[in-house]
Amino acid sequence: MKWAVVGGGIAGLAHGFALLSRGHEVTVFEAAPRSGGNIRTERDGGYSVEWGPNGFLDNVPATFEFVRRLGIGESLLCSSDAARVRWLFRRGRLLRLPESPPAFFASPLLSPFGRARVLLEPLARGRPRHDETVHAFASRRIGREAADVLVSAMVSGVFAGDARRLSLRSAFPKMHAMEAAHGSLFRALIARRRAGTARGGPAGPGGVLTSFRGGMEDLVAAFAARLGERLRLSTPVTGLSRRRDGWVLDGPGEEAEGVVLACPAPVTSRLLRPLAPEAAARLGRVRGASIAVVGLAFDEAALGGPPAGFGFLAPPGEGLRILGCLFDSSVYPGHRAPPGKVLLRAMIGGALDPGAVDLDDGALLATARADLRKAMGLRADPERHWIFRFPRGIPQYEPGHGLRLAEAARMLAPWPTLRLAGNSYRGISVNSCLEEAAPLLPA
Ligand SMILES: Cc1cc2nc3c(=O)[nH]c(=O)nc-3n(C[C@H](O)[C@H](O)[C@H](O)COP(=O)(O)OP(=O)(O)OC[C@H]3O[C@@H](n4cnc5c(N)ncnc54)[C@H](O)[C@@H]3O)c2cc1C
Repeated sequence: MKWAVVGGGIAGLAHGFALLSRGHEVTVFEAAPRSGGNIRTERDGGYSVEWGPNGFLDNVPATFEFVRRLGIGESLLCSSDAARVRWLFRRGRLLRLPESPPAFFASPLLSPFGRARVLLEPLARGRPRHDETVHAFASRRIGREAADVLVSAMVSGVFAGDARRLSLRSAFPKMHAMEAAHGSLFRALIARRRAGTARGGPAGPGGVLTSFRGGMEDLVAAFAARLGERLRLSTPVTGLSRRRDGWVLDGPGEEAEGVVLACPAPVTSRLLRPLAPEAAARLGRVRGASIAVVGLAFDEAALGGPPAGFGFLAPPGEGLRILGCLFDSSVYPGHRAPPGKVLLRAMIGGALDPGAVDLDDGALLATARADLRKAMGLRADPERHWIFRFPRGIPQYEPGHGLRLAEAARMLAPWPTLRLAGNSYRGISVNSCLEEAAPLLPA
């Protein structure tokens, strides 16, 4: 069968590769002059600076299945064990996120009342029938302070999102399922520990952050190499229509029997509008949060040594404009910065600060530096810097997202040769994008 894939981000590349592996004829059309979408590694002066993701958790087998089939297992790189240490900016200083329940209750991260309220989690009232926001869920189960501080920071770290505007069920389906199955997060964690399936803790997600020696772009390059001339760069698809039993793609002017729309939901919505306006309207409701990334390089001496841990998050209302900062050279020692140098990446913007991405480079740099001075006491001038922008780059799963998706799927059901893929729908992580394509791989 002949397939066209629209979008050469990681979702489109994985679908293209999986369909090709099954013996289908495939072309991947990518609007930009390079593939990878959000994934891009800038290699500059001995630094490998990620534009977007700095890794994926090692707990999703689908990702390793792609890595194995691409033959790039040798290039896998585990984050340093020390990267399990994570920090949170609170009351003017960095506090270490506790890694065990006793450490949590001894930590000054929350007030004594806030910590005591977390203990009442098993007694929280049951969930409402409507699609609850992440913030409402967290306030109900572990209290308002933990929701404002810990959960809001976690949501801005993952989605650059506003916990008050994201759906728990769509954005954090595992947490939703834990409550549904056990009636309490604590009880769910105890059950998982008993079953030996518990991973992670209050300080971070389950699984070990993993990347590639040359950066996340190694994965993109491996897909692109396998697709070869079937990957057509600088080829935007501008329209989609039906002809006989198949599809016509305007722009490249190609016909195909099947289509995978692996472009962002607003583009998919535009392409589907003439064919299925009701479905297109639902998909067009997926908004994206904009984010800017400021990479900064320093001499280790300026920081008194390499910074310890993974990085820090800054909850809203704690006086920083940056959402947080990743200590990339400590996460992957020896692989992201030259010896004796430090690479940090600060994130600015997100759903609560939509104008930040429009600041000019000077203002973004000044914001990052001022906030790193407040949080880390870092006064030295950076030796180099890099600035990357992602306008509307991170989809926000707002309440009603799941219902709208189900309705759109029902409306598009008459066309089984049309697939929607990518981070706009069922998960924004690299793992989710690969997991969605994995069932297409041959056995
Ligand atoms: C700053 C940042 C940090 C992140 N950190 C992490 C992390 O640490 N771990 C993690 O797992 N995830 C992370 N993510 C999320 C992850 O990178 C993305 O969700 C994932 O890469 C999305 O892949 P995608 O293929 O769905 O979409 P995209 O990467 O957006 O790709 C879509 C592609 O479609 C193309 N396109 C658009 N319109 C058309 C058209 N008309 N015709 C043809 N092509 C078109 C675009 O040019 C683009 O290349 C991060 C994201 C950002 C922005």
